[in-house]
Amino acid sequence: MKKLLLATGLTILVILPIYVDESEAAVEKLEFDTTATQHNWKIYSTDYEEIEVGSHEYTYWKNFIRHKRTCQISHRIKTVVYYCDEHDHTKSETFLEEIIHSEKHRD
Ligand SMILES: [Zn+2]
Ligand SMILES: [Zn+2]
Repeated sequence: MKKLLLATGLTILVILPIYVDESEAAVEKLEFDTTATQHNWKIYSTDYEEIEVGSHEYTYWKNFIRHKRTCQISHRIKTVVYYCDEHDHTKSETFLEEIIHSEKHRD
């Protein structure tokens, strides 16, 4: 019985320091993550590109006859690249600027 108690005590002594270490490390990590890092983001470049995303059919009337035509849809995408000279790194953001239909139609 005494042996068992001693063993339990030893186990607690061994486990406890590890446990404390881990929780301290966790706190440090959390502090690092939540501390607002100051960046110096500046617009480095702005790019536009058009990508085709699909097509659809539309109908129109001409001389009392119904016509069908295919219209190409494309997205005008704006990509802004930012550069932070504080840490020498970049980030980019993309924006959907415009949805373009190749044909002029009402619906
Ligand atoms: Zn930065
Ligand atoms: Zn269209």
